Amino acid sequence: MVGNTTVDPLAWASAVTKPEIDAVRNPRTGHVLNVRRLIRAFRYERAILLRQRLKALVKREDARLVCATCGVPVYLACSTTKRFFFRHRHEDGSCPAVTRTQLSEADIRAMKYRGAQESGAHKRVKALLLRSLSADPRFKDVASERTWKASEGLCGLRRPDVSARTDTDRLAFEVQLSTTFMDVVLSRKEFYRAEGAALVWVLPYFHPTYRRMTDDDILFGNNSNVFVVDERSAAASEAAGSFIMTCWYRKPIIQGDEIVDEWVERLVRWDEITVEVDRETIIVFDYAQEVARLREELRAAHLERIAAAQAAARQVLEDRANDLREQVLRFVLDATRDDHDMPRNQEWALLNDRLRSMGYGLDGEYPDLLTATRIVHLIESARAGKPVGFGYSSFTELGHHLIHQHPELLLAFGHMLRRFGTKEALYRDDRTGKLRAKLDAIRSELTQNPKYRMAKDEERLCAFLSMGASRKARPDNDNRDQQGRAAA
Ligand SMILES: [Zn+2]
Repeated sequence: MVGNTTVDPLAWASAVTKPEIDAVRNPRTGHVLNVRRLIRAFRYERAILLRQRLKALVKREDARLVCATCGVPVYLACSTTKRFFFRHRHEDGSCPAVTRTQLSEADIRAMKYRGAQESGAHKRVKALLLRSLSADPRFKDVASERTWKASEGLCGLRRPDVSARTDTDRLAFEVQLSTTFMDVVLSRKEFYRAEGAALVWVLPYFHPTYRRMTDDDILFGNNSNVFVVDERSAAASEAAGSFIMTCWYRKPIIQGDEIVDEWVERLVRWDEITVEVDRETIIVFDYAQEVARLREELRAAHLERIAAAQAAARQVLEDRANDLREQVLRFVLDATRDDHDMPRNQEWALLNDRLRSMGYGLDGEYPDLLTATRIVHLIESARAGKPVGFGYSSFTELGHHLIHQHPELLLAFGHMLRRFGTKEALYRDDRTGKLRAKLDAIRSELTQNPKYRMAKDEERLCAFLSMGASRKARPDNDNRDQQGRAAA
């Protein structure tokens, strides 16, 4: 017996080592494709289907690929070791690539021998099929080799190995042998589809690790389900009084983060089988649908992992920011506690470097600690509704001070008072109404006059330390508003 190479359906297809036709052309686009690269782009199961598709198209004079050298249509062929190559549809000697060699005498003898050997198997399976169908009263007109004439408008006739009908379906059973060529598989499929009848390929034997080329043609052309009729299934049919076959199908499962196949073998009753005449598929398990579902599942899990990683990264950043904000506030507010080994200026420079690395530090070679201190005091005063760290006892005094000494801080101060709900405190001690009058006088200028504008880096630092409270509230930073309020 000739050795058999069986390829994992999900493995990448490979080309023969030295393809005679090494380049093919798409006659529509003119693109020339390297054959080995083209073949490697397909999974094995896909390559098998591509092979069937190209063959069907070539037969319909609809060539999708031609030999890049001579322009003759080509189809995909497969070697005995399940490697792919292209063949001319016809060979007239004009192309240096010769792909349809004469069969040697030994080849012919081997084929004849196989044919003789198989005709025995063919007869046996047919008899088992007849027994199995006859055991089930739902199958009528069970017959062997009955001529099936094409309906009106269609031409040709076929003689299915076994034919039968149920109340709903017309059925043709064909025993598949290793000498059944793909052409035959395809043309029968076409014929019965046109007839509105279901074509059921029946194998005498199947094992996933020992698949012949024709097995693969039928398997992948039938959504990865194949049926076997043997002594065991025939006996089961007779015992149950119901038509039973053995079904082998691929079942995709998720392993880690990829999809792999499991093979399932089980006896199935006809009721469990879904017949779809339009696509000529006869299946127990919908492999294609399940694999699509699992792919979607993997994709969703992948997206979930990415989202979780992003959320974790955001959390780390946020934690870092919160941590640093706390440190800066404490550093300024605890200024009196001078129990550090390091001079304050040096410590501030280090803190500012960390602020800078996150985009919030003060610019310049010597970032001013006084400026930072003033900003922290401004925030804490607004939050507390009384002066913090400015050396004033009333909020109104602080207001006058800002107007005269630090007009650039007024806007941020105003936003924070509103956000922290401490605005009224500003006028509590304004008995003369002077502060209110002054503020009313400059209100229209606040957003126009540059003297009321903070330096960019100072504004950034203030917004960071106040969690956005120093900026005008916008509908889109609701989130930050809440954080600001929560902090207040
Ligand atoms: Zn050629």
